[in-house]
Amino acid sequence: MTDPRMARLGQRLPGLLLKTEPADLEFYGRDWTRRWTPNPIAIALPAQSEEVQEIVRWAVEERVGIVPSGGRTGLSGGAVAANGELVISFERMNRVLGFEPVDRILTVQPGLVLEALQRAAIEHDLTYPVDFGARGSCTIGGNIATNAGGIRVIRYGNTREWIAGLKVVTGTGALLDLNRGLIKNSSGYDLRHLMIGAEGTLGLVVEASVRLAEPPPPSNVMVLAVPAMQDLMQVFAACRRSLSLSAFEFFTDRALEHVVRHGAQDPFDQVSPFYVITEFDAPDEARHALALEVFEHCLNNGWVNDGVISQSSAQAASLWRLRDSITESLAPLKPYKNDISVRISAIPAFMQAMREIFEREYPQFDIVWFGHIGDGNLHVNVIKPAATSDTEFIVECERVTALLSATLTRYQGSISAEHGIGLVKKKYLAGTRSDAEIAMMRGIKRVLDPFGILNPGKVFDPA
Ligand SMILES: Cc1cc2nc3c(=O)[nH]c(=O)nc-3n(C[C@H](O)[C@H](O)[C@H](O)COP(=O)(O)OP(=O)(O)OC[C@H]3O[C@@H](n4cnc5c(N)ncnc54)[C@H](O)[C@@H]3O)c2cc1C
Repeated sequence: MTDPRMARLGQRLPGLLLKTEPADLEFYGRDWTRRWTPNPIAIALPAQSEEVQEIVRWAVEERVGIVPSGGRTGLSGGAVAANGELVISFERMNRVLGFEPVDRILTVQPGLVLEALQRAAIEHDLTYPVDFGARGSCTIGGNIATNAGGIRVIRYGNTREWIAGLKVVTGTGALLDLNRGLIKNSSGYDLRHLMIGAEGTLGLVVEASVRLAEPPPPSNVMVLAVPAMQDLMQVFAACRRSLSLSAFEFFTDRALEHVVRHGAQDPFDQVSPFYVITEFDAPDEARHALALEVFEHCLNNGWVNDGVISQSSAQAASLWRLRDSITESLAPLKPYKNDISVRISAIPAFMQAMREIFEREYPQFDIVWFGHIGDGNLHVNVIKPAATSDTEFIVECERVTALLSATLTRYQGSISAEHGIGLVKKKYLAGTRSDAEIAMMRGIKRVLDPFGILNPGKVFDPA
């Protein structure tokens, strides 16, 4: 280990696992964005909180930035280390530490993979309801840091709703034990919530107390083919009025084409420009019949022209694949991702405005729309044409994102619904947050991270 700073870290923590091989620096130094060249000084893989605290004290003395790293499925560049930072990977801190049945709280380490957390909940006859396509790789630490949403926000909310307590290491190496699983705690500011969604810029999550929920009732999945954009919200209103929904998502024909090429089964004979996938409680025949009535009502009004309702859990899983695997199927095409939100009521007008921008500015680009339309969150992915260089493509997309950001400001929406600001959307933060808010965020950052070592350059640059 030639770098004297790393040698000093090794002396302070002789038992700390460090990786410095070029392949490791590349692997741990990036997330799903693949836009920046990874260049970390090293990768530290601590096994306990005390090691994390000591690493932070070392980083303060050496003035080395720290990039916390979970499953690196992030889509905003939050876990990218491109400027000589030390990556702290939480992959060895991946255990369930305990379960308290009366509180229904599972205590876990941050590197626990979401799917493993969901399985641990099932072992206690309960559920952890936050769920999305990256479940097999993303970690609860990353989910907390991004306040991850996913496909069942419409019923269960974002990760924030399920975090009963957090242990975090601040930018001075202090360990904070926040909220300790209390349901009611009106004793001053709730710093736990400040940490959730902070993208690792205020503290490193080293332990989380996660609330679990009652298992959901049996459900069915329905996919509907929708001929016109303006009818998507009519279909939503009809489904919401009659059914108890746990998910309501949409995607376009372009998205379907990509997932089918990726191995999913197209349930329809005819192509439709839009599709919705909805999951609803179906504990008995009556509720199943109600879904058929909703389908017929939409059909009679011309809002849908085809549909399929799952008859088995295997079929439900196959239908979910149409939505779940969109991000993965697009990844090799290096899409430019927009992850925006507006109030649900503003969706139709906002979608129309966005569509006009894209048709005018991007006539040559393949645009793939999908997302969590039931909670006002749209993902708009612009696919890079093979003949356009990566640099030209980003320049072009950023020009259009500036227009999109201005439209979002008009509709009082957000440039990042659930992926985070990271590096990708830093330029556009001011379209969503006021100058006063950003100044306060900087002030909070100075208190919790006075030396600016925690995920430097993410969310905003130092003032
Ligand atoms: C196929 C696919 C589907 C996806 N679908 C969704 C979706 O529906 N909804 C959604 O919200 N996101 C989605 N994402 C994005 C991504 O999975 C989430 O942002 C997820 O929460 C990131 O978790 P991670 O462990 O991979 O974090 P990483 O990518 O490793 O990190 C994300 C951020 O968290 C910080 N961080 C990580 N661990 C810690 C820690 N212990 N303490 C402090 N900061 C930390 C990192 O520095 C970074 O800023 C999807 C991604 C993919 C690839």
